[in-house]
Amino acid sequence: AHLDRMAEVEPKVQAFLHVDRETTLEQARAVDARLRAGEKLGPLAGVPVAHKDIFATRDMPTTAASKILEGWRPPYDATVTARLREAGLVILGKTNLDEFAMGSSTENSAYHVTHNPWDLSKVPGGSSGGSSAAVAAYEAPLSTGTDTGGSIRQPASVTGIVGMKPTYGGSSRYGLIAFASSLDTPGPFARNVLDAALLHEAFSGHDPMDSTSIDRPVPSVVEAARNPDIAGMRVGVVKEFAGEGYQAGVLARYHEAVQLLESLGAKVVEVSCPSFTTALPAYYLIAPSECSSNLARFDAMRYGLRVGDDGTRSAEEVMALTRAAGFGDEVKRRIMLGTYALSSGYYDAYYGQAQKVRTVISREFEAAYQQVDVLVSPTTPTTAFGIGERADDPIAMYLADLCTIPSNLAGNAAMSVPCGLADEDNLPVGLQIMAPVLADDRCYRVGAAVE
Ligand code: GLN
Repeated sequence: AHLDRMAEVEPKVQAFLHVDRETTLEQARAVDARLRAGEKLGPLAGVPVAHKDIFATRDMPTTAASKILEGWRPPYDATVTARLREAGLVILGKTNLDEFAMGSSTENSAYHVTHNPWDLSKVPGGSSGGSSAAVAAYEAPLSTGTDTGGSIRQPASVTGIVGMKPTYGGSSRYGLIAFASSLDTPGPFARNVLDAALLHEAFSGHDPMDSTSIDRPVPSVVEAARNPDIAGMRVGVVKEFAGEGYQAGVLARYHEAVQLLESLGAKVVEVSCPSFTTALPAYYLIAPSECSSNLARFDAMRYGLRVGDDGTRSAEEVMALTRAAGFGDEVKRRIMLGTYALSSGYYDAYYGQAQKVRTVISREFEAAYQQVDVLVSPTTPTTAFGIGERADDPIAMYLADLCTIPSNLAGNAAMSVPCGLADEDNLPVGLQIMAPVLADDRCYRVGAAVE
């Protein structure tokens, strides 16, 4: 049914980079055989899932939406992919993204633009915009994404679905093509909170293959999604994330959602986190710095593209030609920013300073969580913007992640859950729910109460 739905809407939505009907049906038949043989599989056995094309899949290409990895087929599965395969989920295909997950609109893909199913002239958010569009368009019931600065929550918000960034280290980065290793976090997309919880639980948990994976028991998110009782819960409204620069229709739905929480028995208080507004500039030093180091591995020798290797050029020349041809403009911008920020003489002023800001933000979260159980804000200041509207203005693009980035810097859990449509444009609005490290269950409890 999902393959048929894809055949119908994919020409308009273009959520996928790779679809292979036969491989998918083969996987489905194999799961069927396992079930018939009496194998005990989890609750999602036989359910299809679409993977962001940044997770390694051994039977499908993996490109990170970059020309530099065109045609690369990994010899192994990412932990996320492997665990879901093991649990009997069937892969529908690989979804589009901003190249190497750098962006907020999926327009930075080297292959094509993905359209928001609510209005095809709008972006589906990014960088996991293929995954959000696929679920919103009913092409897939579930999908995976990664959130480094907001790339699950922002696309979920603008396509009217649920997206969760787990606690950093709560889901494995093994087999995930690295962008900014201290921030990258795999997470689920779904059309409701319980579905997201089932997917979250199916792939998360300790992984010895990832050195930053947390080896501690995590409260059950499925249990929390099934028990949306929030009576007595303390909810902090982040003062800094509302007001000027926010779309009126977004604020209206946000305030209604907060009132709903109050009517369900939550104690709502305003909380001030003054340094949260400095998270965005700090992120745009830390993330590019880590990216400039991570992307050094694309050296024309090990993977994918190789340009100009005609026997007359040195390895350095081939590397330069390959990287010039293989990386898109935004990726090059990040590599240059990061290389600059890390160079000797500038390191203390930029990278070092940004790391200090990161620590201050973590402390502000800790102080806030002394007073409240969760924090809330709009997920993003506006509804989906038009395709092309911010393409030439990187700063305007970066602002889409204003409210989501603090949780990445602190490694906290955070979710976006739909909370209605804005009056101006009838486009979806998302409520962001933030919780302390390893308290992912609170996001699910509050999210389930709101939906
Ligand atoms: N939009 C942000 C960026 O471009 C966040 C991306 C992400 O979370 N992967 O870096």
